[in-house]
Order: sequence, then C-alpha cells, then structure tokens
Amino acid sequence: LCYRKGKTPRRPALKKTNNVEKDPVGVYCRIRPLGAEDEECCVEMISSSTIQLHAPDGLKANRNGEYKETQYSFTKVFGINTGQMELFEDVARPLVEDLIQCKNGLLFTYGVTGSGKTYTMTGSPGEGGLLPRSLDMLFNSIGPFQAKRFVFKPDDKNGIDIQSQVDALLERQKRDSQQSVPKTPSSRQKADLEFADMITPEESRKSKNIDEDCSYSVFVSYVEIYNNYIYDLLEDAQFDSVRPKPPQSRILREDQNHNMYVAGCTEVEVKSTEEAFEVFWKGQKKRRIANTQLNRESSRSHSVFTVKLAQAPLDADGDYILQDKNQVNVSQLCLVDLAGSERTSRTRAEGSRLREAGNINQSLMTLRTCMEILRENQMCGTNKMVPYRDSKVTHLFKNYFDGEGKVKMIVCVNPKADDYEETLVMRFAEMTQEVEVARPVDRPIYHLAAGRRHRNQGPAGGLIESLPALPPCELVDPTDDQTLPRLIEVLEQRHRIRQMMTEQVKFMLQQFDSQMSSKDTFVHDQQSKLNEKEKVILNQKTEIERLEKKSKTLEYKIDILQKTTEMYEQDKRSLQQELEGQEQMLQKELSERRRMEQRMQGVVTDTKLKWEKECERRVNAKQLEMQNKLWVKDEKLKQLKAIVTENSSGGSFPPEPPKKPERPSRERDHTMPQKRSASPTALPVSDFILKNHHNHSDHYCTSTPSTSSPYPSVASCISEWEQKFPIDSGSQSRLHGTPQNQNRTPAPGYSTNSVDRRRGQRWAPDTEAPTNDLDRNTVPPVRPTHRRSRSAGGEKWVDHKPASNLELDTVMQPIIPNAIKVSTPNEKALSKCHKYVLRHQELASDGEIETKLIKGDVFKTRGGGQAVQFTDIETLKQECPTAPRYNISLKYPGLIMLLRCSVSLQMYFGVLFMINKIEDSI
Ligand code: ADP
Ligand code: MG
Repeated sequence: LCYRKGKTPRRPALKKTNNVEKDPVGVYCRIRPLGAEDEECCVEMISSSTIQLHAPDGLKANRNGEYKETQYSFTKVFGINTGQMELFEDVARPLVEDLIQCKNGLLFTYGVTGSGKTYTMTGSPGEGGLLPRSLDMLFNSIGPFQAKRFVFKPDDKNGIDIQSQVDALLERQKRDSQQSVPKTPSSRQKADLEFADMITPEESRKSKNIDEDCSYSVFVSYVEIYNNYIYDLLEDAQFDSVRPKPPQSRILREDQNHNMYVAGCTEVEVKSTEEAFEVFWKGQKKRRIANTQLNRESSRSHSVFTVKLAQAPLDADGDYILQDKNQVNVSQLCLVDLAGSERTSRTRAEGSRLREAGNINQSLMTLRTCMEILRENQMCGTNKMVPYRDSKVTHLFKNYFDGEGKVKMIVCVNPKADDYEETLVMRFAEMTQEVEVARPVDRPIYHLAAGRRHRNQGPAGGLIESLPALPPCELVDPTDDQTLPRLIEVLEQRHRIRQMMTEQVKFMLQQFDSQMSSKDTFVHDQQSKLNEKEKVILNQKTEIERLEKKSKTLEYKIDILQKTTEMYEQDKRSLQQELEGQEQMLQKELSERRRMEQRMQGVVTDTKLKWEKECERRVNAKQLEMQNKLWVKDEKLKQLKAIVTENSSGGSFPPEPPKKPERPSRERDHTMPQKRSASPTALPVSDFILKNHHNHSDHYCTSTPSTSSPYPSVASCISEWEQKFPIDSGSQSRLHGTPQNQNRTPAPGYSTNSVDRRRGQRWAPDTEAPTNDLDRNTVPPVRPTHRRSRSAGGEKWVDHKPASNLELDTVMQPIIPNAIKVSTPNEKALSKCHKYVLRHQELASDGEIETKLIKGDVFKTRGGGQAVQFTDIETLKQECPTAPRYNISLKYPGLIMLLRCSVSLQMYFGVLFMINKIEDSI
C-alpha cells in the first residue's frame, strides 16, 4: 500500500528542465455523420490519423483553377461510424485512469456549432457522451472505497481538508435537518432515468488500479464562461423568474501551489454516478434557463465540468482515514465543451451579440495564440511569454500547459459543405498536437502494510481467545477416569488449535515473506532506479563541470578580448590625439605659410616700390647730372664765345669751334656701351679723380673707371668727352675744353700759384697731350720723353706696390728713395707724402707682363682728406722678340682712393682741370 503526498492537483514549482518527460497534446478528430438535409460531404477520412478536405462544388477551384484539397493529421481520427463507447475507450478512459492515479487531465471539444461537441461531451439518451461515461467509470472504480460524506471537505482555496468521523457525522446531521424538503422519489427517479438512458449497464467500465487502502471522495463543479465572465452553474441562489438578476460572475485565483481555480465556486460532493449526473443536469438546466432569460446563445459559451477526486490513505488499522491534510491527494479532470469556433461574420450577429461573438472568438483566438507560442517556445527554445491571461479559458487552464497534466482535444467536424470554410481552422488543431505538456509524475509513496482495510476481518483475529479453557485437572480419586481423558481431550483440542494457529502463522509468515520479497524487489527496483538517477546525476555533474570549465575559459577569453579591446581603444585614442596634434601643426604651418606668403608679398611689393622709387631717383639723379653737364657745357661754350669774341677783337685767334659739346648727351649714351664692350685696358686715365661723398668713404676701382661706378663722376664725364674730341691740333682742341666759370672759381685764399703749380705738374706745355683711349686701342701710344719726371730730391713718395705684384727679374727696377712702401694705399701714408706711385702690373697684348708706374701728386682736399692727381705713367716691359701678341689683359683691382670730397669740389676740380687745359693750350 502506499500513501501519496500532496493535496492539490499539481505539485508546486515544477521546474521546466529538459529531464521532464513530456507528452504531446492529444488531438483527435471526430467526424459526425451528415445531416439528413446535407448532401455534399467535404471531409474524407483517408487513414486512421488523416483527413482530407474536399472543397465543395461552389468553391472547388482556387485562383489558379486548381482543386483545393488539404490534408490534416491528428493523433487519431474517428469516422462517422465511431460510437460513443469507442471514443470513450480511446480518449476519456485513460484520463479517468489518470484521475484515479492522482493525475490531472483536461479534455475539451473544439469545433463549429453543430459539429457535435455537445454530442461528444454529453451525448444523447442511449448514447451517453464522454462525461457520463467518465463519471460512471469513476464511481464503478471507487464505489466501495468512498469516504463518508463530509469527511473530505473543500477548503475554499482549491484544497481539501479532512474532518474527523465525528465532525463529519455532525455536519451530515446538520445538513439533513436543513434540507427540509426531502427529494421526492419521483424527481430522483427522473434523474436516474435520465442517466439510465445514457449508458447501458454492460457498457460500464471499471478501473483495476484502485488502491483499496485509500478512501475516496468525488466533488464536481460546473462553470460557464460567457463573454469572458465565469458563472457558477451550481450556485444555490434561487433564480427569480419574475425579475431575473444577472448572475454573479466569478474570478480566477491562484492557490498556494500556483494552480488556477474559480474562487468561491460551488463544489458538490457526489457519491454516485447518478448523483453526479443529476448535479450536471441541474447545472445544464440553469444554463439553459439563464440563456433563455438573458437572451444568450448557449453555443457562444464555454462550459467547464470539473470532476475532482480526493483520496487519502487509511490508518494502519484500516479503520479510519489518516487525519493528516498533507496525506490528501487531489486530482481533477476537466471536461470542457468549448463555444462554437465559427467566425464572427458567419454568425451574423449584431450589437451586443456581436460583442459576445467577438469575445468568443477572442478567447478561442487566445487559445490558438497560446498554443502557437507554446509550440514555438518548445520547438525553438525561445522563452516568449504565453498570453494565458488574455482570456479566462486559457488562464484557467494555464497550469495544464505550463505545469503538468494530460491535455486532449477532440476536434469535431461537420462534413457538410456549409462548414467547409470553417474546417480550415483545423490547422490550429493540427498545430496543437505539436505542443508538449509535462507528463504527470507518480507521487512519492509511503510504504504501509497493504490490506489494512481488511485486516480486522481476517481469520487470525481472536484465535488466542478461542482456545478452550482447561478443565479442572485435580485428581482426588484414583479411580477418576474422567478428569484425565477430559484434560487429554482439551489438550488435544488445544494442540489442534495450536497447530492450526501455527499453520495460520506459517501462512501469514509466508504471506509476509512473499510481501517482503515483493517489497525487496520493489526496494531493489527503487535501488536500481536510484543508481540510474545517481548515474544521471553523475553525468550531469560532469556535464556541469565541463560547462563550468567552458564558461571559465570563455570568461577568460572575454577578459582577454576586453583587455585587447581596451588596448586597441587606447591605441586608437593616442593615435587620434596624435592625429589631432598633427592636424593642429599642419593648420599652424598652413597659417604660418599663409602669413609668410602675405609677408613675402608685402616684401615683394615693398621692394618693388623701393626699387621703383630708386629707379625714379636714379633717373632723376641722371637727369640732374645731365642737366648739370649740359649747363657746364653751356657755360664752357659761353666762355669760349666770350674768349673768341675777346680774341677776335684783340688778334689772331682760331676760328670758333664747332658746337660739338652741345650735342645731346644721349648720343654719348649710345656710344658708351660700345666702348665698354671693347676689351678694357688698364691704362689709367691721366687726370682721373675718384670722388668721395661727404661723410662717406667708398672705394672705387680705377682699372675701368668708366664702368666701375654706377654714377659717373664729373671727371669721368669730362675725360670721356675729351676722348671723344681729342685735342689733335694745337690751340683749337685746347680751346674748347676750357671752362671758365666765375661761380666755380677757387675759394679765396686758393692762390693762383697753387693752380699754376698743379697745372704744371699735370701737363707739360705744348708737347704734352692727354691720353687717348681710342687712339691707344688702335695704335701704340707714342709717348714723349718724360721731361717732367723730376728726379725727386726732397719729395716724399708713397710707393704703392700691390701684394699681387710679381717679382720680375728685370734689369730696370724703379728705386725711389725716401718712399713709404705700402701694399694698399692708406690715408695715413698719403697725408705724410706729396707724391704717389702705383706699381701696376698687367699682361700686355703680346702676353708679356708689363709694369706701369703710375705717378701722381698728393694734395689735401678741403674736406680734410687727400686726393691724388695722376700725372705720369712710366712703363717697364720685357719683350720677346718672337713671341706672338696676345690680347689678354690682366685685371686687377685698381687704386682705391680715400677721399672726402663733395660733389661741388669734384665739379670744381673738373672745371679747374678744363681751365688749366685751356690755359695751357693758350
Ligand atoms: P455542437 O455542440 O457542436 O453545437 P451538437 O453536439 O449540439 O453540436 O450536435 C448537433 C446535432 O448533431 C445534435 O442533434 C446531435 O445529435 C447531432 N450529432 C452530432 N454529432 C453526432 C454524431 N457523431 N452522431 C450522431 N449525431 C450527431
Ligand atoms: Mg453545443
């Protein structure tokens, strides 16, 4: 015998693990026979599990003109000839067996109105449906083992309490006294008759797996779900037919084991099939009345008939039920007749009816949605929320799908053509069988001695007491021959009884032995099961370990990846920073460059402007100079004119010179470059004064006087002029170079003697002619004897011998006593001397080196400096008589004069020079 633990239909907190065994929802299809008026059949059963739908004539072709033939598969298909009994055997009987075995079951019929749902569930007289048959089988099985009324008592929280026998008795008496009007035999008879019409006695079924050492009790409840409200059909409230009150709807609650139940729903304890059926009919009747009164359509409501079985073990003596609520096991079987599954449009409902219809469809839609999501969750391993709460029907049966239990659905099909389109929704039914529901597990059991119920009824009871009493065995008379035989007889009797007892005990022991061995095998079985479970646990442990290791490595990997990511991010940041820095630098450089460009542009513009100004200034200076020259010439001309006029009036004078000087100076500008381009000679211009501006000491090269300075001095201009117009013939040439300017006369104190002296130093009278570049270039210079070279007695010389000069082993070597020898002329030396000589070496045209001694006078200028006026050139030259003549000239940086002299002074010298010349010529 076993005790089963738990008190509510399902065990709490059933964890959804993969180890839980699951069964698919059993979906059966029942095709009802065609009605008398229907002709066309659009459903064909093609196998025991498949049906095929044929589109009725009107609908035969789809858009492509093809025949639409759809097949649906089910757990099993029941054809039109299937009787109620066969259906019960296949579908409901296992559920009743489960119910007795403390397992829950849910059975519902699904289909359009008129497809036979109610027929299948309830049946009709003579053809009882699944409900009466289930009740019948249940009571047939538990009949003799039922507890007395009110021993089991619903606790209003979906649980069952146990009352003591006494309490139960008291309550029974109380109820009996309350029921003032006893049931009339006629009404009872009527109910019996109704049930009797349902099932024939030979169709009665009985479970063989009943536990006789338990006490049972059956409670039934019947609710209707209409318009998503739950109504209790077994409520005792008196129905007022005059002013019908709308029935009170009930709410759903969850018990402590998370099972859903209708709160406050009437649960009627029934002791027989008839009684149960009577209660059912009562509910049906009420439903009918309410529907009529409230103008409802029964096809739009779901009806739920619940059979609840409570069972509790008997105590060790087998007399009473164990007074322990925890030992009470409760299981239930829900039989649901769903509302018609037809579409709203088909019902052609209006107004409130439409709303009702919508709700019906809504709750069926919810059922479908729940099934679909459940299936998806189970098949794809997803964890979507199943919307049970969206409708009362699904909410009420939530635990059948979520927890454990057996779920079966019978899809009723009416094969008539009108229903063809509705049968298409069978796709849902077909899909539903892919949903799996956890299989109810066996309850844990207590091992109590079996057969407790019959313990006190067995033969061993009172055996000891039945032993015959020993007769008085005192022998007082030796002839007493009665006492001993009587004693012997009694003893023999006792012996026999003892033997019997021994045998009985032996038998009992054997029984116990067999029981023990069965128990042993059971224990063995359990042990092996335990071992298996341990193995499984071990496997799972290793699996867990493996997974843990895996998770650790994964974590490690994640760690590494995170670190790598961090590193990369850091790199990225630093690179970005670098990039930004470089961009900034680039920007800076760019702006710098722009600034530079602007600055350069500014500089360029400035320079341009400066140079423009400079050019302008130079042009102006040139102009001024030219004007000056022009003026000088004019002056000369004027003077000449004056002289000529003077002479012509006083004696014989050469004729007036041609007005060559008045020629525009531009002409000279043109000729100048040509002259410059000619091979330059280092022949110094005899009277060449290098100028120096006030407060400014510049060095000028004398080797090519005409080109060395960008500003041609007055002297150079004059010399050029002289070269152009050489004094070739006597007084005539001398005449036109004589300027006479009163403004340029020497300052007072500048004696005529000094002028004369200097004049004399420069020019030899009559014979001396100025150097002519043009002539020299063409013909070798023919020099007069150097009369003027005085043997310098007391005069002090500056002997300028440039460092670059070569030592020539010539026989003739100038020897100048008292000379200060310098390699570069300096003011200090000049200030001490009166004479100056430059030893100038150059390559003659024949390739020989010739040394020229360029001599000059040193005199003090007004500005405080020294000026040298060249007076003479002596040439020393070695010649190879056969050597060819080369026209190579050796350039050498010429004499550098250090003068502090004003432009006006230069001008003065120039004029002075001219005057001297003229005077000389005169
Ligand atoms: P539903 O409850 O689905 O609206 P019903 O169960 O009321 O349909 O059935 C409508 C009619 O069809 C009833 O008169 C019933 O007797 C009949 N019927 C349904 N199924 C069968 C069947 N399998 N065999 C015989 N009659 C049937
Ligand atoms: Mg119906």
